[in-house]
Amino acid sequence: MTDLSTPSQEHAQPASRSSVGPPLWLLAELTYRCPLHCAFCYNPVNYTDHRDELSTAQWIDVLQQARKLGAAQLGFSGGEPLMRDDLEALVAEAHRLGFYTNLITSGVGLTEARLGTLKANGLDHIQLSFQDSTQELNDFLSSTRTFDLKNRVARSIKAHGFPMVLNCVLHRYNLPHVDKIIDMALAMGAEYLELANTQYYGWAHTNRAQLMPTAEQLREAEAVVERYRKEIGNRCKIFFVVPDYFETRPKRCMNGWGSVFLGIAPDGAALPCHSARSLPGLTFPNVKDTSLEHIWFDSDAFNRFRGFEWMKEPCRSCDEKSKDLGGCRCQAYLLTQDAANADPVCDKSAHHEQVVRVVRDAARRSETLAPDEQPVTFRNDANSRRLTASTRETAAASRDEGTQP
Ligand code: SF4
Ligand code: SF4
Repeated sequence: MTDLSTPSQEHAQPASRSSVGPPLWLLAELTYRCPLHCAFCYNPVNYTDHRDELSTAQWIDVLQQARKLGAAQLGFSGGEPLMRDDLEALVAEAHRLGFYTNLITSGVGLTEARLGTLKANGLDHIQLSFQDSTQELNDFLSSTRTFDLKNRVARSIKAHGFPMVLNCVLHRYNLPHVDKIIDMALAMGAEYLELANTQYYGWAHTNRAQLMPTAEQLREAEAVVERYRKEIGNRCKIFFVVPDYFETRPKRCMNGWGSVFLGIAPDGAALPCHSARSLPGLTFPNVKDTSLEHIWFDSDAFNRFRGFEWMKEPCRSCDEKSKDLGGCRCQAYLLTQDAANADPVCDKSAHHEQVVRVVRDAARRSETLAPDEQPVTFRNDANSRRLTASTRETAAASRDEGTQP
C-alpha cells in the first residue's frame, strides 16, 4: 500500500458521488498571522513557508461554492482571524448565504467597535481561548501579556449578547487548575466550556515532552469535571476531550478523511484536516486553481484515505475498522513515518509501544515542574524557520542515505 514517506505515490480513484456526502463543516483559516505564540499551537510548524493569503473576493467565492456543496457550519479561524480587516465583510456574506458562523479567536483585536459590527453582520457564535485561569500561566503559555485583555473581551462578548464557548487547551501545567478554569467560565457566563486536552500535532508535537500529563492528573481532572457537571446542571455545558495517547483505540479522526470536514488554509490549500499539511507526498489542491466541487469529490488528496482500500494490516482485516477508520492519518505518519499505518494509539498496532513509552516517560517526570524549568519552543517566526530548516536537512540526509548502495 501507499507509503507517504516515499515520493512514489499511488493515486486514489475519484469518489463515486453517491458515496460521499457534502462537506458539512467548513473551516476558513483566514491567516496564519497571530499575535500569540502558544506552545501547543495547531498551525503547521512550517507556517512561515505559507505566507500568501486569499483576497476578500477569493474567500467570498470559497464561501459561495462551499454553501452550494451543502456546507452549513462555518468557523473563521487562523492564526488570529481578527488580523484580517475584511472579517466583518466575510461574516456578512456568510450570514447572507445562510451559514451558522463561529469566530474562533484569542480575543486580541476584538474591540467594542468590531464586536458591534460582527453582531450587526450576523455572526452567530464566538469561541474565546484562554490558556489558564491564572495570569501567570496564561501569559507564559502564549508568551504574551493577554490575560487581562481576554477577561475584558469575555465581558464584552457577553454584553453584546453572543453565545460564548470558552476554550482551554489542557496539559500537565494546567490540568491541576481545572476547577479554577470551570469557575472562571461560570463567572464569565460562558454557555459552553471546551476543556480540550492537547492533541499532539504541530507545535504541541514539538513540545510533547513538556506538555504530556500523567494518567493520574487526567483521572483527577475528569473527576473534577464530573463533580461540576452534577452541581451546575445546564448552566454551562462542559466538554472534556480526553487525549488519545491514554486510550487503546484511536479516535475516528475528523469523522473520517474527506467525510464532513473541509479546511481552507490561508493560501487557499484545501485540507481534509487541520494537520494534513504535515503529510509528505500529498499535494493539496488549491481553491485558486480548481473548484471546490472538484477538490471535494475528485482530487487525489481528498480520496487518498476515503473508504477502506488504502488500509494496511492490522486495520484491513480488523472487525473494528468501520468504527474508527484506522484512526488519525497525521498521527500515524508522525509516529510511524507512514500515514497508511494504523494509528499507533491502537494497541493492535505494531507501533503502539511508542505511545506507551511517551506516557510512561511523562509519569516519571515530576508533576510539579514549574513551566520555566524546561525549555518550551514557542510558536514564532524564528522558531518556525529554524525547525523547518532542520526538518529539511534531516529529510535531505535520509534521501542521500537512501541512494547509497
Ligand atoms: S493556538 Fe495560540 S498561537 Fe496558535 S493560532 Fe491560536 S492563539 Fe495563535
Ligand atoms: S487495528 Fe486499525 S481498524 Fe482495528 S481498532 Fe486498531 S486502528 Fe482501528
